[in-house]
Amino acid sequence: MSNQENKNDINGDAAIRTNFIREIINDDLQTNKYNGKVQTRFPPEPNGYLHIGHAKSICLNFGIARDYKGLCNLRFDDTNPSKEDVEYVDSIKEDVHWLGFDWEDREYYASDYFEQLYQYAVQLIKKGKAYVCDLTANEIRDYRGTLTEPGKDSPFRNRSVEENMNLFTRMLQGEFADGSRTMRAKIDMSAPNINLRDPIMYRILRSTHHRTGDTWCIYPTYDWAHGQSDSIEGITHSICTLEFEDHRPLYDWYINELGIHHPQQIEFARLNLSYTVMSKRRLLQLVEESYVKGWDDPRMPTICGLRRRGYTPESLHHFADRIGVAKRENMIDVALLEDSLRQDLNKRAMRVMAVLRPLKVIILNYPDDRVEELEAVNNPEDASMGTRNIPFSKVVYIEQDDFREDPPKKYFRLSPGNEVRLRYAYIIKCVDVIKNEKGEISEIHCTYDPETKSGSPNSQRKVKGTIHWVSAPHAVDAEVRLYDRLFNVDNPSGDNWKETLNQNSLEILSDCKLEKSLNQSKPKDKYQFERLGYFCADYDSTDGKLIFNRTVTLKDTWAKIEKSF
Ligand code: ATP
Ligand code: MG
Repeated sequence: MSNQENKNDINGDAAIRTNFIREIINDDLQTNKYNGKVQTRFPPEPNGYLHIGHAKSICLNFGIARDYKGLCNLRFDDTNPSKEDVEYVDSIKEDVHWLGFDWEDREYYASDYFEQLYQYAVQLIKKGKAYVCDLTANEIRDYRGTLTEPGKDSPFRNRSVEENMNLFTRMLQGEFADGSRTMRAKIDMSAPNINLRDPIMYRILRSTHHRTGDTWCIYPTYDWAHGQSDSIEGITHSICTLEFEDHRPLYDWYINELGIHHPQQIEFARLNLSYTVMSKRRLLQLVEESYVKGWDDPRMPTICGLRRRGYTPESLHHFADRIGVAKRENMIDVALLEDSLRQDLNKRAMRVMAVLRPLKVIILNYPDDRVEELEAVNNPEDASMGTRNIPFSKVVYIEQDDFREDPPKKYFRLSPGNEVRLRYAYIIKCVDVIKNEKGEISEIHCTYDPETKSGSPNSQRKVKGTIHWVSAPHAVDAEVRLYDRLFNVDNPSGDNWKETLNQNSLEILSDCKLEKSLNQSKPKDKYQFERLGYFCADYDSTDGKLIFNRTVTLKDTWAKIEKSF
């Protein structure tokens, strides 16, 4: 079998998705490094909701497991009880499932390994490779040195194994105050890599853990827990973001000293997306300080926010495929994310007519009580989605924007004396403009040409403009929420990041008119409002009060960007 065939065999349809991580896995399979096994994991810390960056990592880890017929675990890296919560655990599980991935019975918690980690720590103490240190946090920092200067040994570094065992046991039993002592690995205070300068393995902390309660008053650091958790689970390829590259020598050191299964860590560049922030700390601030309405506010880059906004799992998979994985940090234009969504919704979303800023049009020569049912196409991209009937009558709403009293040149919509086609209906002509006492336009009077019904054999006449409309007596009222970028700058950063929030990121339109068929809509239903964009019924939408979120506009800014590549 040739090399190429072999690769396809292993990868299945994923051969097209190859990247440097898959190349490493392919090589490991060739050399039988892990006996043909591929096991990855997605390891969130349950201290916030997942965001689009996590979606990249989820698609990567679960995608590899799927394509190589391996397994991917869901592991909660819950080593920091003060910031973690079951609310976050539940939301993470919901988000991973929504993305279409399943960890089956492999839902793991670093906290399940606390006992094993404790035993490993004892093993290192007995080997003379770890010690209890009485320096304060500040002293530890001072002793650590800098990138250019080596650190200094702690005065407690050369305690005997017996003394260390005695003190570590008493740390466990709660004899010492929070923060008064630590347990540290004994590596090298002058190592060029600061992570190797006797890193802390345990701190004393009396804090109730969301799973282990008050069982423990010493907690492992992330760096001590992470690599061993991977090892315990038999992970073969431990995929993480670039900032852990400098931690790899430490993880390797622990695993080698303990002589346990050694996963291969591989680092990739995290996703950065323009016009938003992604750190959980900052997202939490936006929520707690009420800049947004919650973690699932449709302006948030969280998975639940994107879901509420109307994003589909397929669009996020497609986005993850398009951005790929690389070793170098970069900033992805949010227009690419929006384009991935449009491509998906274009195929699936039903087209309907909706008027966001209504202007009443009365068709003078249309019979008062006549109602015609006109046939409209549900999705021109997909004939199998069929057609529906929409009612037409003497009074219709059009968009305020589709009428100009003094039209500029090349304005092909409605204006005094001018004609326009009402989509799926007739050509109408504006004959009068009615104003209220303030001089504002209150309604438009038109006539229609009965010979111009859409689709009828006599409908020969053509006009330049076609606009959407909704029959007034049949219209369904709705509130529509329009969203803009959450930030005014493409890379909100520094101490002033909150000053760059876009004050106009939400506009609520409360007097929108939707075509009759939308009175059947249920929360999460997705539509294209013709000429306006894609919209999704909000969770709070009810039969009594319909609420829609604008998911994304129709304007395709990405196509322009792609051309300039
Ligand atoms: P934050 O820094 O925002 O708190 P985190 O990296 O600490 O995020 P974790 O819960 O530890 O969040 O992340 C779980 C997994 O998701 C990790 O493997 C991490 O590398 C990955 N991840 C987090 N952010 C991104 C991102 N922007 N792009 C790709 N992967 C990410
Ligand atoms: Mg992290």
